[in-house]
Amino acid sequence: MIKRFVAKVQDLFKRKPRLRKEPKQLAVAEHGINPQLVPRNAFRVCETLQKAGFKAYIVGGAVRDLLLGVAPKDFDVATDATPEQVKSHFRRAIIIGRRFRLVHVMFGAETIEVSTFRALDNPDRQTDEHGRVLADNLYGPQHEDATRRDFTINALYYDPLTQTVLDYHDGVKDVRRKRLRMIGDPATRYREDPVRMLRAVRFAAKLGFEIDEATRTPIREMAALLENVPAARVFDEMLKLLMSGHSVACITRLRAEGLHHGVLPLLDVILEQPEGERFVMLALSRTDERVRAGKHIAPGFLFATLLWHEVLKRWKEREARGEHRIPALDSAIDDVQDLQTEKLAIQRRYTSDMREIWMLQPRLERRTGRNAFKLLEHLRLRAGYDFLLLRCAADEAPNELGDWWTRFMAADADEREQLVTTVGRSEPAATAPKRRRRRRGGGRGAAGGDEPATHSSATDGGA
Ligand code: ATP
Ligand code: MG
Repeated sequence: MIKRFVAKVQDLFKRKPRLRKEPKQLAVAEHGINPQLVPRNAFRVCETLQKAGFKAYIVGGAVRDLLLGVAPKDFDVATDATPEQVKSHFRRAIIIGRRFRLVHVMFGAETIEVSTFRALDNPDRQTDEHGRVLADNLYGPQHEDATRRDFTINALYYDPLTQTVLDYHDGVKDVRRKRLRMIGDPATRYREDPVRMLRAVRFAAKLGFEIDEATRTPIREMAALLENVPAARVFDEMLKLLMSGHSVACITRLRAEGLHHGVLPLLDVILEQPEGERFVMLALSRTDERVRAGKHIAPGFLFATLLWHEVLKRWKEREARGEHRIPALDSAIDDVQDLQTEKLAIQRRYTSDMREIWMLQPRLERRTGRNAFKLLEHLRLRAGYDFLLLRCAADEAPNELGDWWTRFMAADADEREQLVTTVGRSEPAATAPKRRRRRRGGGRGAAGGDEPATHSSATDGGA
């Protein structure tokens, strides 16, 4: 009897997000945030709004990173001023978004995103007597804004003027304990927004945090809910995950939590082929190194690496059916991109980069005559070359080919002529129309053998 009562009470507490109206207030001695890490513009936005009589705090990921002593990559501000009020206090500010509007305050190249405190979703309050959504009801008190955020470590507010942290959900304690804990009942919150499962994995991997047991447990059985999320949203989150500088850790965790199926529909297929897995993991660890070194990452390149083995497989199949080498590659790319576009919504600007990088691979193998010179004018040569180096590193293309291009690209005109001659001399077969030779000689078996088509042709020196 008592047991059942206790269980019921526990259940009640679990379901209802705790609505703590008064936050803990932590002074600098307790939170230890270094004010030097707050850029001038983020400070200025808070200061301007506060001088105008509003509340204004740095929120979300920035506070979490500040507590960890890491310089945040961007700063968001939350306020009780409406978007119009915010806009009116800055010279360069625009309101974006339709239903829930935000203000982008711009200072040169830097943008500070300012959002008005949001109310908890409450169906009774969102409509008027005719059922019309009342925009004003989207805004609410600060404690509701805190409760509708995802994890406790993301629900902290930092006032850079007084250097105080407001903590409604014991987020500071969780930062210290390195724990990722969902606010409210995790299953309910994942149902409201399944993307939170991907966010859990990303934050845990990126920050090296443990996912709290109650937050972690429902993920496996709720993973399928991600299929109902609009593809564009999943894509955005995947991109964040892959560009976090911890993509290897993220992918490893995605798999551990059973989340890789359906997230990047072809990723699970790729990761199940040993060759594909090696290539993807190598590509991801290089991406991580670049991100951590502060270098630029082109999403098109990244997705080209993730899907390369799917393209290779289909390319090989098409060649085995007797299709010509280049059109076969072109069609293999269509096959893979159609599948992806349907499920993942990789944006068009990236898919065309991917196609160019892939189409460059057989062209990079043809170095004789004017072929290599023509490629020097290709706008995507650099990306295609980087991709080739990755294939070399994964033992999918001969190192000699990658080294040759490294030298060729750095050389002057005379040296280039010489390099081309050397290829012509050492690889006389390169001038023969290899495509036909291979298909006639080897028939189906040769083209459909174990090695990817590019591999064998690269070894041959290309035609
Ligand atoms: P990052 O360092 O990747 O930017 P972040 O925590 O700032 O991490 P954002 O996606 O920029 O993540 O979101 C800003 C804040 O908005 C989060 O810290 C969180 O408080 C809130 N938030 C974002 N997405 C969600 C969501 N799906 N559900 C609830 N709250 C969210
Ligand atoms: Mg952020």
